[in-house]
Amino acid sequence: MKGKLEPSERQKLIEEGKNLKDRLITLEDDLLKLTDELQLEAQSIPNMTHPDVPIGAEDSSTLRKVVGDPHEFSFPIKDHVQLGKELDLFDFDSAAEISGSKFYYMKNEAVMLEMGLINWTLFEVMKRGFTPLTTPEIVRSSVVEKCGFQPRGTNTQVYSIEGSDQCLIGTAEIPVGGIHMDSILPEALLPLKYVAFSHCFRTEAGAAGTATRGLYRVHQFSKAEMFILCRPEESDSYHEELISIEEDLFSSLGLHFKTVDMASEDLGAPAYRKFDVEAWMPGLGRYGEISSASNCTDYQSRRLGIRYRPESSLTNPKKGKGNLASTQFVHTLNATACAVPRMILCLLENYQQEDGSVVIPEPLRPFMGGLQIITPK
Ligand code: AMP
Repeated sequence: MKGKLEPSERQKLIEEGKNLKDRLITLEDDLLKLTDELQLEAQSIPNMTHPDVPIGAEDSSTLRKVVGDPHEFSFPIKDHVQLGKELDLFDFDSAAEISGSKFYYMKNEAVMLEMGLINWTLFEVMKRGFTPLTTPEIVRSSVVEKCGFQPRGTNTQVYSIEGSDQCLIGTAEIPVGGIHMDSILPEALLPLKYVAFSHCFRTEAGAAGTATRGLYRVHQFSKAEMFILCRPEESDSYHEELISIEEDLFSSLGLHFKTVDMASEDLGAPAYRKFDVEAWMPGLGRYGEISSASNCTDYQSRRLGIRYRPESSLTNPKKGKGNLASTQFVHTLNATACAVPRMILCLLENYQQEDGSVVIPEPLRPFMGGLQIITPK
């Protein structure tokens, strides 16, 4: 009869179907393994660099801008460690006993300064259209890797939790980057702008011999971090926006600083371009990095799987809604709004007075119960 198969042919087709199903399972397994391998290989490849990035080591970095002048002092100045001792603001000795070197307790007005700095910064950045967040401070190692950091190896900056697949975050960039992991965002949602408060934990492996006194390089600190997800064609201009927000914040606090276009060898793996801010630290007698703004283009979004669907693809019948090919990777950018220890260092050293007191910059006073000056007790 027409349409009916001989039993032997039917059996043959059933067998073929079964074989195809088995083959599909093997191929899917292979694909998963290859995707994992590709991910690992991809992690060892750094991002491209912006055509204007100076090529070479750190000393090839170029100056973008200088803001303000160094404070003039008519008396012998102290560094923040000395000021902190006289004003009873820190306890490094107990922290060394309790935790180890490069830890600290903040005390008295230093605590208010930390909270005041963070609150002021959050309000300032929220005014510019950023959504505030607090984040988990323990994340999966896979997310750390996808953001371009190396949680393993002898020189890792990342603290891993033994017996788990989790790490302490070195920056809120990691949990914020992870929020939209494995998703396709509607174009109308972009740009997404966040300002996230978190504690940051860093092993500072390999930092022996660099400035270690006081608060400059510590293992744990609090930070407000800006993070933007945007369309690729807009990331250069959002990078400019981030550095100009940093410049506004630090000038409002009356700091003298320069902004630097970092050289290619100092970009790290994820950054396509990085602008650092280096502020004058009178007690230390040098400039020190207080913040950093990076455009990571699609380096993190490819690894984290963060795509968006351009509006145009919704009206194009050839590029259906469920079609991954009609999506593109977003660009991600991150920038420090306030990393507390170096800000406190700068404020104490720049605003010290001859009598040993320290004046609080005006914008912070409403966030510190009106406190205007820290005086010796
Ligand atoms: P990064 O995420 O490495 O670009 O660092 C952002 C900012 O955090 C730096 O500009 C510093 O102000 C601050 N920072 C980084 N590492 C440390 C540390 N170990 N101790 C104190 N502050 C730090």
